[in-house]
Amino acid sequence: MKIKDHNELFQEQEYLEQFERKKEFENCPSAEEVQRTAEWTKTEEYRELNFKRKHIKINPAKACQPLGAVFCASGFEGTLPFVQGAQGCVAYFRSHLSRHFKEPMTAVSTSMTEDAAVFGGLNNMLEGLENAYTLYHPKMLAVSTTCMAEVIGDDLNAYIRTAREKGVIPKDLPVPFAHTPSFVGSHITGYDNMMKGILTAVTAGKKGEPNGKINIIPGFDTYTGNYRELKRLLNMMDVKHTILADVSDIYDSPTTGEYKLYPGGTPLTDAADSINATAAIALQKYSTSKTLDYIGKEWSQSAAVLTPIGIKNTDPDFIYEFDKLLKI
Ligand code: SF4
Repeated sequence: MKIKDHNELFQEQEYLEQFERKKEFENCPSAEEVQRTAEWTKTEEYRELNFKRKHIKINPAKACQPLGAVFCASGFEGTLPFVQGAQGCVAYFRSHLSRHFKEPMTAVSTSMTEDAAVFGGLNNMLEGLENAYTLYHPKMLAVSTTCMAEVIGDDLNAYIRTAREKGVIPKDLPVPFAHTPSFVGSHITGYDNMMKGILTAVTAGKKGEPNGKINIIPGFDTYTGNYRELKRLLNMMDVKHTILADVSDIYDSPTTGEYKLYPGGTPLTDAADSINATAAIALQKYSTSKTLDYIGKEWSQSAAVLTPIGIKNTDPDFIYEFDKLLKI
């Protein structure tokens, strides 16, 4: 069968007539008007107007909150990102991240449909948690939400408590959560919300002796090489640290010929001990603001955004800022 290219196909009489007929409904300017405007764009008058513009609008690449939450959660050891919401949303997060990194990406959804939208998503959550835990044996289930769950107002805290009471999941399994409504903010907001949710959950009751470490929060950074370089430099300088969250082995796993469901991530013991660190340094501003605020207020830890880019942040000024941060 010969399938025609659209250039050729749309030149056929049938299509040409169809385009003509459509103009009746399109309210488009006449061919003469289009030609006149095209000529005007080549004049000095147009050029002057063009250069007089002071503002430019740029539409940034923007994904929705749960995508950021899923990305953040996947950077912790043995963690299964778990999304309360519709299946299509999670298929999008997975395909988006898998395509970008060329790596399999793990996340599950509670597959909410019309009945959950009307009656609430508790049953989906209970069944989902039970299935996910039984099938995939995660060390942590990190729950976020899609638009649907947020519009109907699902109460994650109450649902997770109910799941524990009903024995659907073990009482000691960490199940942090973050409400990630996609009609607010973007993927970086979701990353921040999930990071705060995870740190809140894993550090509960872990306040103890200072461990002398620095918490490093890279933010929504998709360049896996950055994480490895960061670790290399910190190790060279003998700086004890915890990367929150380390996605490098998740999205750039070695090709050993063997599939691993959980190929790496920040060890949960290190994440739990992050509450006892000396300071927290975020490398991005907007994807870590709530987390830094939480660390500063709740953990009484020095917390700042210090991006190691440029002379100011990598030469003596950086050292100075760093010393100030550590209150040396
Ligand atoms: S914007 Fe809402 S509905 Fe769309 S993919 Fe994100 S969570 Fe799903």
